Amino acid sequence: MEHGERVDVRKEPAPRKTAGDGSEPVRQQHCAPYSPRTTPSATGADTDLRTDPMSSLWLGFDTESDVTQWAYEPGLPVSAAVLEESLAALVRLTEILRAHQVKATFFLVGRLLEVAGDAYRVLLQGEGHDLECHTYSHHPIHAGHPLSESPAEAEKSIRRGLDLMEQWFGERPLGLCAPGGSPTGLRRQPEILRVIWEAGLRFVKSDNLASSETPMLPSRIHPYAYAEEGYPDLWRLPGVGWHCTLTLPRAPGDWTPRPVVPGGPPFPHAPRTPEDHLAWVRQELDYVRAHGCQFSPSWHPWSLYRFDPSLTVVDFLLTYAREHKMPVKTYRQVYEELAGGPEPVGGPGRLG
Ligand SMILES: [Zn+2]
Repeated sequence: MEHGERVDVRKEPAPRKTAGDGSEPVRQQHCAPYSPRTTPSATGADTDLRTDPMSSLWLGFDTESDVTQWAYEPGLPVSAAVLEESLAALVRLTEILRAHQVKATFFLVGRLLEVAGDAYRVLLQGEGHDLECHTYSHHPIHAGHPLSESPAEAEKSIRRGLDLMEQWFGERPLGLCAPGGSPTGLRRQPEILRVIWEAGLRFVKSDNLASSETPMLPSRIHPYAYAEEGYPDLWRLPGVGWHCTLTLPRAPGDWTPRPVVPGGPPFPHAPRTPEDHLAWVRQELDYVRAHGCQFSPSWHPWSLYRFDPSLTVVDFLLTYAREHKMPVKTYRQVYEELAGGPEPVGGPGRLG
């Protein structure tokens, strides 16, 4: 289980700045615009949005190996079996992306690049995908998690991860996926935000975990900037929906939350078959489309692959997006929309 915390999001205050008019609460019944180009219906009521581009799919994959290897420590071996699985999953996933002619974001763990960077490069470079950072060690970086690193340790892990990304892919990422996630992201944690900002990062997928009932945030959560902490140009992008590692067999006594879809009853149990998984994703997507939300699942190639080596759910997701005219975006694209245009890689930052 990647997420160790169980926190009730209902107790969390809403951050101030969103991608809307700057005053909307992040959590609300219906989705607000995340970009100036979107125009929600006046009522937010269920409508047929088959030709409305208001909803989109933000396609990103946390690219690691079996998370029972929670931390990737230098010097400790990376199991050949899980590495092979991680790479086999990427082979299948990139085939599907190619067939659908879409680009995705891959947030890569640095330790895996250290041991198999060439294999990841062969699979991912030259395909036009968005390649971003998932730290070096995969330790959580937010305060309050028992396994979290100190800001100083996190800085080393982030910078080492960025160095490895640059070494293997020739470009320094602008985006970070914070391992483990947190229901409130990195709000009111200026020290780690400073580390992220000074490392040249401009967007971070840091809000993932929801509650004891469901592992991820519901899809009505909005992006926002860390303005309150002094970083108005550092954007937080959410991960939503069901967490794919929970489709794998659970040990007795393990946390076994049921998938919860906003606006509908929870599924009686975690997906047990690919068909179960598709049913959940379809319900979530129907909700997203009806309410003008954005769908940004935090999926992991290795666990999707272990559950179903065909990765049927990814093919289903992209087929659904095409049929319903939902734009498919990388996280970098979303960031650029929010920030008002591409920012030069490595360019100087602005402190608010
Ligand atoms: Zn991860």
